[in-house]
Amino acid sequence: MRIGYGWDSHEFKAGIPLKIGGVTLRHDQGLGGHSDGDVLLHAITDALLGAIAGPDIGSLFPPSDPQWKNADSAVFLREALQRVRSAGYALVNLDSTLILAAPKIGPHAGAIRQHVAQLCGIPADCVGIKAKTPEGMGTEDAAIAHVAVLLKRSES
Ligand SMILES: [Zn+2]
Repeated sequence: MRIGYGWDSHEFKAGIPLKIGGVTLRHDQGLGGHSDGDVLLHAITDALLGAIAGPDIGSLFPPSDPQWKNADSAVFLREALQRVRSAGYALVNLDSTLILAAPKIGPHAGAIRQHVAQLCGIPADCVGIKAKTPEGMGTEDAAIAHVAVLLKRSES
């Protein structure tokens, strides 16, 4: 078995859609930076790549490369899953913690869990989606994601 860990953060910016776990959430700000700014999918991608000691997301998809501007982050996740398969592993489960001041994730956690499970090809009860507010951290302008994954050797 292998474990992997990923972390990511993006700054909130006005006038762009907010996407977390591939789900667009209604909010007055979105996450700027690399691609569509999907902090959760980026952390999952890095956790998967880390579990197989692969290159990190920034090496595979450099933020400086214009082809990744506004890209759907599901593209990065699919590449990481493909690399996991090629290395002879399969994803068992993943757990995540989101840290952001707003919007509240609770009402959307079910939808995010379903979507991430579908993208990863694992059951929804193998996807943990937890959220906290940044008490005393001073990171109200950012969304942060921590992700742990467990891989097992493929059957074949
Ligand atoms: Zn990112």
